[in-house]
Amino acid sequence: MSVCTPRLEIYPDRIAANARSVIDLCHRHGAQVAAVTKVTCAHPAVAHALEAGGADMVADSRMRNLQAAVEAGIRRPLMLLRIPAPSCAAEVVRCADISLNSNLDTIRLLSDAAVLQGARHQVVVMVDVGDLREGVWPDRAIEIVRGAAGLPGIEVAGLGCNLACYWGVIPTLENMQALVDVRDRCRQATGLELGLLSGGNSANLPLIASGGMPRQVNHFRIGEAIVLGRNVIDRSPWPGTRQDTFRMVAEVVEVERKPSVPIGDRGQDAFGGTPEFEDRGMRLRAICNVGRQDVVVDGIEPEMPGVRVLGGSSDHLILDVEDAEAKIKVGDELAFMPGYGALLALSTSPYVQKVVMRG
Ligand SMILES: *Cc1c(COP(=O)(O)O)cnc(C)c1O
Repeated sequence: MSVCTPRLEIYPDRIAANARSVIDLCHRHGAQVAAVTKVTCAHPAVAHALEAGGADMVADSRMRNLQAAVEAGIRRPLMLLRIPAPSCAAEVVRCADISLNSNLDTIRLLSDAAVLQGARHQVVVMVDVGDLREGVWPDRAIEIVRGAAGLPGIEVAGLGCNLACYWGVIPTLENMQALVDVRDRCRQATGLELGLLSGGNSANLPLIASGGMPRQVNHFRIGEAIVLGRNVIDRSPWPGTRQDTFRMVAEVVEVERKPSVPIGDRGQDAFGGTPEFEDRGMRLRAICNVGRQDVVVDGIEPEMPGVRVLGGSSDHLILDVEDAEAKIKVGDELAFMPGYGALLALSTSPYVQKVVMRG
């Protein structure tokens, strides 16, 4: 296939270097890292970069992505991040070595499936320490751990939690210590080792770097800080990583000088919104061949100084190029740095060609 537009350029060598830097930090803390591939749909080049960067496990939220990693030749243990659906238990056991769970009935189904497949499935019991997404309330943890440990197809690897995803609750010594305390209570009640304590995602890195992470927390599931080099608490560059790991390239299909405010009576736009327009007079506008079916249009940063994203519809990205550093004409390629949501959409869109770059 020839290189066309729109495309997503992937820089695996840079991702591997980011992985090395972030994973070394976790290893120095004594923790393992499950490198998370979901934002790229487990693209083979990214999965290999994470493995080369020292990932102890590869993790994804989708079983299809875990399978893609296996087909790409990844040989690390595979972790399923999303709480399994009961109807998918057999597939979960087939695709993943270990999964995050919060429901005992589902774990029973995983056990049944594992027994049928002659396998043993590992589970991490998720505890909610405040972000109110997944996890059992701490006072229910013992009951779930005890129930799961009694199942023939299940090995309870340990406990885990997830912060910063739903309510943006920041990992602290207090909520991490709460996880450690729940594990201690579960240990006392059951006599199980529960050796794995999975403390969370990229949002945990600042606490690790500052030395405030309890020693007992010995596993992290890291995606964005590696693949995009960001501190996810404020999206600033994460120290020791680079941010130029992906580029979206689109092509200019129209350049016209137009008023900056629409003419005519206005109803809703194509997505049910009523956008506001700032009157900046006549401006040079460009349209690129990428849209909301491929990308989050307000989640991309134009590379060329002076280019401004005005918005987009399903198939068109609308830019103000009046102040662009270079003269823009039809057929030009323009590049953009995607944020997390934009990268997720670009990876998922079948209309965006993925191109692996060297260097
Ligand atoms: C996506 C996800 C992660 C990784 O999050 P990042 O912010 O990309 O590091 C970790 N744990 C779970 C449960 C997830 O769904």
